[in-house]
Amino acid sequence: MPVTTSEFVPADLDATCFENIEPLFLALLDRSVESAEALDLWLVDRSELESAYSEAQARLYINMTCKTEDEQVQGAYTRFIEDVQPRAKPLGFGLDKKQVELVEKFGDGERMERYLVLHRDTRAEVELYRDENVPLETELSKLSQKFDQITGVMMVEFEGESRTLPQMGLYQESTDRAQREAAWRAVADRRLEDADAIEDVFDEMITLRDQVAHNAGFENYIGYAFESMHRFDYTPADCSVFHDACEKHVVPMLRELDEQRRESLGVQTLRPWDLLVDRLGRNPLRPFSGGTDLVTKTRHAFAGLDSELDSMFKTLGDGSTSQGVDGGAMLDLDTRKGKAPGGYQYMLDRTGTPFIFMNAAGLHRDLETMVHEAGHAFHSMFCEDEPLLHYRHSPIEFAEVASMSMELLSMPYWGGAQGFYADENDLSRACRQQIESSILLLPWIATIDAFQHWIYANPDHTRDERAAQWQSLDERFGRGVSWDGLENYSLRSWQRQGHLFGAPFYYIEYGIAQLGALGLWVRSLEEGQDVAVKAYKKTLSLGGSRPLPELFETAGLKFDFGADTVGHLVDRVRSELAKLPE
Ligand SMILES: [Zn+2]
Repeated sequence: MPVTTSEFVPADLDATCFENIEPLFLALLDRSVESAEALDLWLVDRSELESAYSEAQARLYINMTCKTEDEQVQGAYTRFIEDVQPRAKPLGFGLDKKQVELVEKFGDGERMERYLVLHRDTRAEVELYRDENVPLETELSKLSQKFDQITGVMMVEFEGESRTLPQMGLYQESTDRAQREAAWRAVADRRLEDADAIEDVFDEMITLRDQVAHNAGFENYIGYAFESMHRFDYTPADCSVFHDACEKHVVPMLRELDEQRRESLGVQTLRPWDLLVDRLGRNPLRPFSGGTDLVTKTRHAFAGLDSELDSMFKTLGDGSTSQGVDGGAMLDLDTRKGKAPGGYQYMLDRTGTPFIFMNAAGLHRDLETMVHEAGHAFHSMFCEDEPLLHYRHSPIEFAEVASMSMELLSMPYWGGAQGFYADENDLSRACRQQIESSILLLPWIATIDAFQHWIYANPDHTRDERAAQWQSLDERFGRGVSWDGLENYSLRSWQRQGHLFGAPFYYIEYGIAQLGALGLWVRSLEEGQDVAVKAYKKTLSLGGSRPLPELFETAGLKFDFGADTVGHLVDRVRSELAKLPE
């Protein structure tokens, strides 16, 4: 396409203010577009406006998470969400409608190929929209909020103090089995108190979602969800194929590892509170101390992996500055008071720079988060020259390949005197942990996904039927633990998976992406690291401009979740694990 730059949006536009952006939205809505070239320009102009809008939100969000105690910063974000977003949304939908018409009118041949992904995603938005679903969506948001409220206030009285559930989670790593059991039961009992209230919320959600789907002309919510999530490259039947492949190849390995765990722990039967403790009773790994050390050692790893990735990572800074994005820092790594939990990478779409946020405390999982978010940042940087915003972001099924691959491909460079693990035993332990966790997540993803397919295919089920379905999925995909005497808890343990409530069907993406990341890692083992990294970079630079099968193909991978693909990956995982001493 000839047009790549836009002068439509002023460089100094303050897009946090609706009064500033409204005239630009209206100008695009009113503009008469009479040729294919005019369409190209219109799309680039729209993209530029939405980049400015997206960056405004990103900056407010970043500041909010970096300064949770600053009321002004908190208020600015809330104002944007409550005041600007609801007014901008209908304007954006108006542009969607106009865009679909324009692309259908002027997009032919090569141009249509270029706009293929953009067009099918936007058309889905327009086709699914129903006036009568707007109040139902509001109702669903409120229910989702209600779920968050019920679970968010859960506290447990434990060892003389009142504690949150995430705080209680730390006890699951304790080497004292009695303490683990007491902590586990305390949390399970607390959840049980609200289990009926949560069932009520979920029942209402299922009914409403089924109605939303019917209103939009679908037989049930599954078809609606697939279209609304822009899943055009795989079907519910493909998801079943993934479930079967996990059952056949991953579950046996999961059960073997659990049996090894049982033996190492020296217990008669493995119980739900035995799953997170180090099976040899060792202290947690300590790969670094502090944000600048984390950056230095991450640089060491990327320098070993690839010189281009290394220099890209260097542009993000040394991790010494923090406190939000306005000072120009792109990393905010150390955990501190007044910072939101978690970790993320957020692309500033207009200036084209990525920002990485995390709460590093010196643990292995922080190393994992750092290289993971760096992978997202590489993705953003590789497609920063793409004129269309929509193509600068790829669907999660591939976006997470970019990040999860880095967790595996950087592994060979975690060691050495300058690395995270100078001690060979620590290195081996860390790599084992990384490889195991990357494959063992798959059966849980299959469980949650299969559960949702059953739920929305049978929206009139009873609670007992739901519990029975959950139990049968646990037998099919679950860990090698005994739930004897704990049935009360196990039948409703699905309630801890928040995605079921706030983000239905959103989960299998991580399974698909993990297969892609493992696939790239296997390529690095079989064809050499340079081949894998080259394919990685080439695919990342496509952003989201091509359908998923093409993205996977560019990475030298088959877009396939079947038994052959999964079986091959599991075989490789087994042989690599066999080389690593405990
Ligand atoms: Zn990610």
